[in-house]
Amino acid sequence: MPLDIAIVGAGPAGLTLARSLRGSGLEIALIDPQPREALAEPAFDGREIALTHPSRRLLEAAGIWARLDAEAIAPLREARIVDGRGTTPLTIGSGGRAPLGFLVANQAIRRAAFDAAIDGDGVRLFAGCRVVALDTSRQDRTVLQLSDGRTLAARLVVAADGRYSTTRRLLGIGARQRDFGKTMLVCRMTHERPHESIALEWFDHGQTVALLPLAGRCSSLVLTLPPLQIERLIALDDAAFGAEITQRLRGRLGAMRPAGSRHAYPLVASFADRFAGPRCALVGDAAVGMHPVTAHGFNFGLLGQARLAAAIRAGAASPGGDVADPVRLARYAREHRRETEPLYRATQLIVSLYTDERAPARWLRGAVLGAAARLPPLRRAIAARLTGRVDPLPG
Ligand SMILES: Cc1cc2nc3c(=O)[nH]c(=O)nc-3n(C[C@H](O)[C@H](O)[C@H](O)COP(=O)(O)OP(=O)(O)OC[C@H]3O[C@@H](n4cnc5c(N)ncnc54)[C@H](O)[C@@H]3O)c2cc1C
Repeated sequence: MPLDIAIVGAGPAGLTLARSLRGSGLEIALIDPQPREALAEPAFDGREIALTHPSRRLLEAAGIWARLDAEAIAPLREARIVDGRGTTPLTIGSGGRAPLGFLVANQAIRRAAFDAAIDGDGVRLFAGCRVVALDTSRQDRTVLQLSDGRTLAARLVVAADGRYSTTRRLLGIGARQRDFGKTMLVCRMTHERPHESIALEWFDHGQTVALLPLAGRCSSLVLTLPPLQIERLIALDDAAFGAEITQRLRGRLGAMRPAGSRHAYPLVASFADRFAGPRCALVGDAAVGMHPVTAHGFNFGLLGQARLAAAIRAGAASPGGDVADPVRLARYAREHRRETEPLYRATQLIVSLYTDERAPARWLRGAVLGAAARLPPLRRAIAARLTGRVDPLPG
């Protein structure tokens, strides 16, 4: 008998989906090349994930939020976007006492999501192995060949293996990809002056810097530069690195020192051609791999898994009892595309405009930022979206 669902990839999106299907009575396999210990106790990867209020609600519904330590959650009061010319900053605040959003380390999310996903029956973990081939020739199931020689059959295969998804390829689904030719360095830094829970996004000439406020006088530095410059910065000792970052930030928060390991991420965005097909669906970065500048990758991943879980449950409960009901999968794909594509495209535009060092682009971005800063309805609309006053998930 085939399993109901094979989720390929036990990252935050795949794990949350497995948890969202808890209590459905479905048999689920979770497959990931990392060993079980690494999934249960993930290493720090430098990423601090900015979460919106709707995402918090989805994490609460999945029993993941309650598993996060309270001190691992940093509130975000305000976000300020500035450019290299010192144009009026675009300031986005919640306008109330509630924070604009929350910052949580990806490591903490992964740990809590793993705990939640494997807590309960119905989920079997296949750790330390990857999917090497898929046989999609049968109508009622897909057969997965694992790297350790085992085979599995499932009524539905979900690709949740990240933006470079091998499963997407094995399913014959293409993706638009864009390599920005830059690398992002992420690292925690302590600093002299308080950050006042304000996030800074600074599109400076020749560099893009984000500072995300964490607990105490500590922020996550996100610095985007050409790859060779990032390699040089990673090789510096702590003192030289701290001095250079202080100088790059022009002393905004006083002297800065690294407070942990440095991590580099090549900037590549991807958008799958299809989010679902016969007996398959894509979720998380395998569907939409956002550029991190708009901090929406996992927020979209959470929305997508919630929609997909609802489609699977509805299919299983229908008279045909099919978890891969094509009509429901197609609706998931359509709605998730409609939700994500505008911001995906807008992010590409923002990044192109703000990393172009030619004079017209420099002028234009100052003008755009200045105009946006003088448009309170725009600022309110962004804040409403982040705080959940506009909830992207109806019902
Ligand atoms: C620097 C940085 C900052 C970010 N900041 C934010 C933010 O502020 N807000 C936000 O919403 N998002 C942010 N993101 C995006 C967020 O981290 C991702 O959207 C999220 O991690 C995607 O989760 P995922 O489970 O889809 O994929 P991944 O996290 O990539 O996990 C994929 C999983 O699949 C496994 N896998 C890989 N290959 C295979 C295979 N062949 N077979 C089986 N398993 C496989 C991997 O081991 C991994 O466990 C940021 C990203 C970066 C790089």
